Amino acid sequence: MNLIILGPPGAGKGTQAKRLEEARDLVQLSTGDMLRAAAGTAVGKKAKAAMDRGEFVEDEVVVSIIEERIGLSDCQRGFILDGFPRTLAQAKALDEMLEQKGLKLRKVIEIHMDDGVLTERITGRFACAACGEGYHDKYRRPRVEGTCDACGGSEFSRRDDDNEEVVKARLGAYHAQTAPLLPYYRARGVLGEVDGMNEVDDVTRQISQLIDGA
Ligand code: ADP
Ligand code: AMP
Repeated sequence: MNLIILGPPGAGKGTQAKRLEEARDLVQLSTGDMLRAAAGTAVGKKAKAAMDRGEFVEDEVVVSIIEERIGLSDCQRGFILDGFPRTLAQAKALDEMLEQKGLKLRKVIEIHMDDGVLTERITGRFACAACGEGYHDKYRRPRVEGTCDACGGSEFSRRDDDNEEVVKARLGAYHAQTAPLLPYYRARGVLGEVDGMNEVDDVTRQISQLIDGA
């Protein structure tokens, strides 16, 4: 089963994609994570400049990263695209890619959010530096203060682009360039919406119902 999770920055895409990965034995493909992991390469360095401004990285760069990644054997069991596609050009490139590989999209899940809450979600976000487990200052603190629930690590990091100023640019880019994907997928009958303002477990339940009802 192949899925897309769409939604503005901070909506909970990564949180829900990780849960789906475990619950449904799928591979999470986050273009943001892949670009950050490429920080040491020329492509990664160029991407970081755009990311730090809250702008999108060029379509060709992210399309080729995804094309290469979904060609690997682990993706045959199914994948969740998290943060891709973000433009109509990327969505069209994905359609071609899937057709060539004989793959289908089961569902595009939109995590719907009010903009006002997103800044708080993003500026409070941090992650374990060792394993990447995600936390939030208010909504998800480690069970033991200063210790990662998942791996016991004691160092945490925050993303350079998770600050109020860059969030504004990221939200602007979402509304201008990514929101047009909603009617694009709705017209194909694959779009389903969940309310991202609810608690994490509720959002997970709504997503499960959408997938199983498909
Ligand atoms: P995205 O991948 O869409 O940018 P994340 O999954 O990283 O968003 O979530 C952003 C922040 O909000 C994280 O710190 C996460 O722990 C927290 N979070 C995610 N979903 C919820 C929710 N439903 N309610 C409260 N906080 C949430
Ligand atoms: P994310 O981790 O999904 O919040 O993405 C962080 C940043 O990476 C974004 O603000 C963009 O600069 C860049 N990025 C991630 N995915 C894409 C994409 N599909 N297209 C363009 N830029 C992307």
